[in-house]
Amino acid sequence: MLTSCSSAAVPDDKPDAKPVIQQPDPVAPAGLPLPDPPDVQAPSPRTTTEKPLRYELNPKTFRIQNPDEPNEKVLLLTFDDGPAGEATMELLDILDRHKVKSIWFINGHQVAKKKQDGTYAVIPEKAALLREIHKRGHLVGNHTWWHENLRKLPAEKQREEIVSTSQLIADVLGEKPKYFRPPFGAGTPVSETICREQGMVSMNWSVGSLDWEPAVYKKPNGITRQVISTVHSGGNILFHDRVWTATELDAILTQLEKDGYQFVLPTEAK
Ligand SMILES: [Zn+2]
Repeated sequence: MLTSCSSAAVPDDKPDAKPVIQQPDPVAPAGLPLPDPPDVQAPSPRTTTEKPLRYELNPKTFRIQNPDEPNEKVLLLTFDDGPAGEATMELLDILDRHKVKSIWFINGHQVAKKKQDGTYAVIPEKAALLREIHKRGHLVGNHTWWHENLRKLPAEKQREEIVSTSQLIADVLGEKPKYFRPPFGAGTPVSETICREQGMVSMNWSVGSLDWEPAVYKKPNGITRQVISTVHSGGNILFHDRVWTATELDAILTQLEKDGYQFVLPTEAK
């Protein structure tokens, strides 16, 4: 189990032990029901070991993997920079239709207005959106308050960016975030330390949807093409809470499902 920003268990290098049982498809005579399947079922490693499913993030590649079944075609979906509001509900509805859970790395400024004295006033409709994300089973992660490049900020400012966002999430949802993503993927030793103190796992991503590049998202199916051509097993896909992402998300998920991928959440942070 991961309890900090940088540590991670090395996945067991077990071969895929799933037995291959070949059986002909049963054929029923016309008009008769199919016979019951035989009682003897091929044992599945998951049911015989009865271990809870584990999905761990590689702290260097940020890919996600079940260490017990490293060949599983799994993906982690992440949505950054929200809740923006314009497309948030549509994205949530599409994810629901596909029965997919994801991580939403939110910015404090999207949910509350900060005052001069450092306190903040929650924006009610944005707080409601944040609760909706949480209610639908997605994880809410910390993506800093102002989305500044932490590498350009002094240590105390970095701390404020991260800590105030975690506090805001706790105020609205009743629990602190367990995952952190630095803006622009630009973490620092300071942010890693703060993250560890706060009990968060830090991650960047391994598949960029490029839904932040006008040259990609302005082209028809541009985001879809980008994701499908760069996706890989264990991929940690970066999307944003944006209208054009919502336009393409259904097609992207449909294609990934056809290609045999399933969508999972990391399980290391408790
Ligand atoms: Zn961002």
